[in-house]
Amino acid sequence: MMYFRQMLRTPLCGIKAARLLRPVFRVERPLCTKSDEVRLAEEASKKYGSPAPTIFSKVIDKSIPADIIYEDEKCLAFRDITPQAPVHFLVIPRVPIPRISEAKDDDATLLGHLLIVAKNVAKQESLTEGYRVVINDGKHGAQSVYHLHIHVLGGRQMTWPPG
Ligand code: AMP
Repeated sequence: MMYFRQMLRTPLCGIKAARLLRPVFRVERPLCTKSDEVRLAEEASKKYGSPAPTIFSKVIDKSIPADIIYEDEKCLAFRDITPQAPVHFLVIPRVPIPRISEAKDDDATLLGHLLIVAKNVAKQESLTEGYRVVINDGKHGAQSVYHLHIHVLGGRQMTWPPG
């Protein structure tokens, strides 16, 4: 009992415990509340200027539907609405960094986390033969949504160079 109380006290373990207990006690707890999202947006506007909210903010606050396949305190992964491969998902940070070229040196840990999540979700999606990881930046990179995102595409043979 002591062990469970200790687990529930730390935020990360709390989530694990909530997942474990869900079938029995039906514990449902959002990973981030609406006020967390507002705070993250305010912090981002101080750090990166005032990026306009994008459609991905609505995916994060769940005001529009998305096929979310992974989420934690820092990021979400969800299926691309216009898939370019049999498996095509995006990994996005909760904090609305507009684009990779505007990431700061102190975002290194977060950016590393996004890549590790991309790798873990690719495994979850059974992409055993490999996959492509893409970040589009700005006009020449053909970025269309200005909330940093990592594309992961797989399930077919890719070609090089890209268009
Ligand atoms: P990019 O061109 O690199 O900015 O990629 C943006 C991606 O977001 C595109 O592949 C879109 O298909 C995808 N996208 C836009 N809106 C949504 C949405 N509501 N849910 C999932 N994917 C989306």
